[in-house]
Amino acid sequence: MPGPINSELPPACWTDWRWQWRNRIEGHRALAALLEARGQVFDKGVLGHVVARYRFRAVPYYLGLIDWSDKQDPIRLQCIPDSRELDDDPAGCDDPYREVSGADVPGVVHRFPDRVLLVVTTDCAMTCRHCTRKNTLDGPRHLALLAHDAALAYVAAHPGVREVLLSGGDPLLLETDVLDDLLSRLFAIPHVEVVRIGSRVPVVLPMRIDDELAGMLRRHRPLWLNTQFNHPRELTPEAVAACGRLVDAGIPVSNQTVLLRGVNDRLEIMRELCCRLQRCRVRPYYVFQCDPVSGISHFRVERNVAIALQEELRTSVGGLCLPRFVEDVPGARGKTMIGSDHGQ
Ligand code: SF4
Repeated sequence: MPGPINSELPPACWTDWRWQWRNRIEGHRALAALLEARGQVFDKGVLGHVVARYRFRAVPYYLGLIDWSDKQDPIRLQCIPDSRELDDDPAGCDDPYREVSGADVPGVVHRFPDRVLLVVTTDCAMTCRHCTRKNTLDGPRHLALLAHDAALAYVAAHPGVREVLLSGGDPLLLETDVLDDLLSRLFAIPHVEVVRIGSRVPVVLPMRIDDELAGMLRRHRPLWLNTQFNHPRELTPEAVAACGRLVDAGIPVSNQTVLLRGVNDRLEIMRELCCRLQRCRVRPYYVFQCDPVSGISHFRVERNVAIALQEELRTSVGGLCLPRFVEDVPGARGKTMIGSDHGQ
């Protein structure tokens, strides 16, 4: 049975990220029990098939944001498995950027000469239904932290690498001392100038950004953090406080929204999201088109709709509030701006 997902708990439990992590709900049986407890009507067989193909996990905090009376609730859409994930998708493939199939060293993605991405863990606090790596994070253990030594050796052996992106999975789910050690070793490599962390923890498990973690991150400079708020309802008081702790620790925080059909493909939603992010001192940086990954076709927004949304947004918010709409085209030399031929 899933654990409790809101209210009657002592606040000390709800705000303890380790409690949230210990009480995470994963697998189709636990999910089915939760849906039944919430009075949802669903097909158990289909749910089992979807979760057998694409894993399910979520912590109580994020599940607690769902409006269960609304099947199209934007939080639910990002979190709860959907039969459409099994639809045929000619535009999708499992590993479009060859992150696994093309990796010289497991967990190291080196697509651009001066930047390298390290998959430092396969764990996430939530399995986002639109995840780019939804086909690969279930993969062999070689993507996990046991590969840190090999990844660091790879970076050290490539003097052209000036920027390292820690990704996953979610790097902020590493134990604080493990992440501290990783950052120390990276910054000890003479040619590493900047480290970026990509994390959805501020969105899905904001209590993880506690004083201990922020204090550790503060010691490593220059460190940047990109997160992914996709809907204004994700900007809860807990999430706002988490972003504030990071910024107060001297870490610039940017947001990379994924444009998702039914979640944020309307002007009023996107506008509110960007304005509220700016108020939290989080820079609305990119809006990404969905990647060509299998299992997410129901989220894809047509290009002409994305271009129109971008144009509407451009005329309704100021420059610091305005993200760039981009897509990550397999084989391209960088992000491609939507409605433009220019890479970024
Ligand atoms: S937290 Fe990031 S890596 Fe993990 S499932 Fe969500 S989008 Fe994918």
